[in-house]
Amino acid sequence: MKFSKKGLYFWFFLLLFIRIWGHEPRQISAGQDEVAVEDGDLSVRTASFDIFTEPTVSWDRVYRKISRRRVYFGARNRPDASLSAKDKFAYRINLLFERVKELLGMYPQGVKFQIKIFKEQSSVDGAWRRFSRSTKPSVHVKAFYVHGLRTVFTSEEGVSDSILAHEFAHVLQNYYFVALPSSKVTEMLSVYVDENLEE
Ligand SMILES: [Zn+2]
Repeated sequence: MKFSKKGLYFWFFLLLFIRIWGHEPRQISAGQDEVAVEDGDLSVRTASFDIFTEPTVSWDRVYRKISRRRVYFGARNRPDASLSAKDKFAYRINLLFERVKELLGMYPQGVKFQIKIFKEQSSVDGAWRRFSRSTKPSVHVKAFYVHGLRTVFTSEEGVSDSILAHEFAHVLQNYYFVALPSSKVTEMLSVYVDENLEE
């Protein structure tokens, strides 16, 4: 089989994405493994999501980090300049979430999830190890979603709009599908969302 160089790059990066993001633990019950989501402050409450943060998280910084991609959605893409950084952040999260729904064509009813934002990446690593029962200290995931807890975990250090869009695709798929497709399929759809955010 003959591969073009461009084609090889595509597969390399696809595999890299799956390697980095393909770690969502599935079917994890909330029971004894609970990471104390409620440790953080409840910072934002909306109909679809609540955001919990560690008290030291900088709203300015996290807002900047999730505002890099040009998301085309609706008439207004930018929050009112007079809003606080926290409200701008919530506005942007909502915009990203609506965009992901549009890209996947999935509008499940009753979606309600949490976003837990730690200060440090190391806290996400710790939560990940706990949920995945991984003993590998070298694995770093910038974000992951646990459907059993309806929670996306990420950090000020590692968050980006690309990463959140990817995780939101997992949230929607978990709500949308009665029987969740294989993790390869859900991962491909989540990668698709990230790659097509601007379209
Ligand atoms: Zn993923």
